Amino acid sequence: MTTRKRLPRPVAADWAWQLRGACRGTEEAIFFHPDLERGPARQHRDDQAKAICARCPVIVECRRHALAAEEPYGVWGGQDEHERRTLITRRRRARRCERSLRG
Ligand code: SF4
Repeated sequence: MTTRKRLPRPVAADWAWQLRGACRGTEEAIFFHPDLERGPARQHRDDQAKAICARCPVIVECRRHALAAEEPYGVWGGQDEHERRTLITRRRRARRCERSLRG
């Protein structure tokens, strides 16, 4: 589940990028896997979503949001759940390391 405290303030300007997303009007099911989807079917659906993201004018904003909010599901900003989780884990480790170095 998305962590609410990480979401941007409920100010329209903070969410305006979503109005320009290339995914607007597309089938939401392309971006979010159904229960128990695995293997080639999942890879194919993720690839379709990423192809849409690749031509999206707000891919940077979308990816930044998804990483900040730690969106647990779906393709956001051209990244699937696994890719996002990997980056979030690395970022947490880096922060812990920085804190421990500061003492
Ligand atoms: S980057 Fe992908 S998920 Fe994000 S707004 Fe654009 S098309 Fe939609």
